[in-house]
Amino acid sequence: MAREAQPVIWMNGKFIAFEDAKIHILSHVVHYGSSVFEGIRAYDTPRGTAIFRLDRHMQRLLDSCKIARMVPTYGFDELMEAGKATVRENGGKACYLRPVVYRGFRTLGVNPTGVPVDVAMATLNWGKYLGKDALDKGIAVRVSSWRRAAPDTFPFMAKTGANYMNSQLIKLEAIADGYEEGIALDSFGFLAEGSGENLFLVRGDTVYTPTQANAILPGVTRDCVMVLAREMGLEVREEQLPREMLTIADEAFFTGTAAEITPITTIDRIQVGAGRVGPITKRLQVAFFDIIEGRARDRHGWLFPIAAAGKVQRAAKKAR
Ligand code: PMP
Repeated sequence: MAREAQPVIWMNGKFIAFEDAKIHILSHVVHYGSSVFEGIRAYDTPRGTAIFRLDRHMQRLLDSCKIARMVPTYGFDELMEAGKATVRENGGKACYLRPVVYRGFRTLGVNPTGVPVDVAMATLNWGKYLGKDALDKGIAVRVSSWRRAAPDTFPFMAKTGANYMNSQLIKLEAIADGYEEGIALDSFGFLAEGSGENLFLVRGDTVYTPTQANAILPGVTRDCVMVLAREMGLEVREEQLPREMLTIADEAFFTGTAAEITPITTIDRIQVGAGRVGPITKRLQVAFFDIIEGRARDRHGWLFPIAAAGKVQRAAKKAR
């Protein structure tokens, strides 16, 4: 971990050395999973490092806080600036940015009233999440024996730490059984998503993805892919999808900040389509990477350049 994480971590408005960024063992979050978080990527572009859809991620962080009844002491603009400053302070290169809002140390009762809500942001050196070749060659996945929880149990629209026990079980089972990832069904048996990715299927010229009501996180990359697919003239349908759609799909892929657009070539050892990266998946990958790596015009305003180095001191001083 020490080398995965970059040297400086923003905690409650101050930059702290990696080694000193600690919390108490009796913090509420350690016992009850009381946190919400984000995963964001900064990319190298010809015009300097830019954070991908920073606004959308920070808004989702605040939405998650509201759902979890957590009131952070930082607003949208401050979180945006803190995110950029954390990337800059760590050298300003492409990286993965992890903001987390969590209940800290005061009392260990389940009732969190009066427990401080703390905020931290770290940057990590993360390459390709699902392996080096995943984007080019695709991955093997299974349908998980773990389902997503029923609609009125866990708030899947929120990216809460507690939800990720479900994701860990899906992931660990998949890895133990020799797959790269698992696909979870929702509590009714419809397709939901991967442990950390949204799911897309292609059949003919139509792109399918499960709906918000299928216990999925409203993925930022999912939104990008729907926008890009519609720009290409493809029909995009958010639908309740039965499991057997996996078997008859021509193409399948995952989307996520970490996974980007990762093709799926087998599901439960059954070949998807031709068993290699499909043509629509490939076109979407090209369109996506052309924007985020700055080769195409940023026509949707998805890139947030980190400001010039001169602003670093001011941002750090301003921090509380
Ligand atoms: N679903 C889950 C459960 C996730 O953890 C993620 C990763 N944040 C996603 C979907 C994809 O979301 P995004 O594209 O916003 O990263």
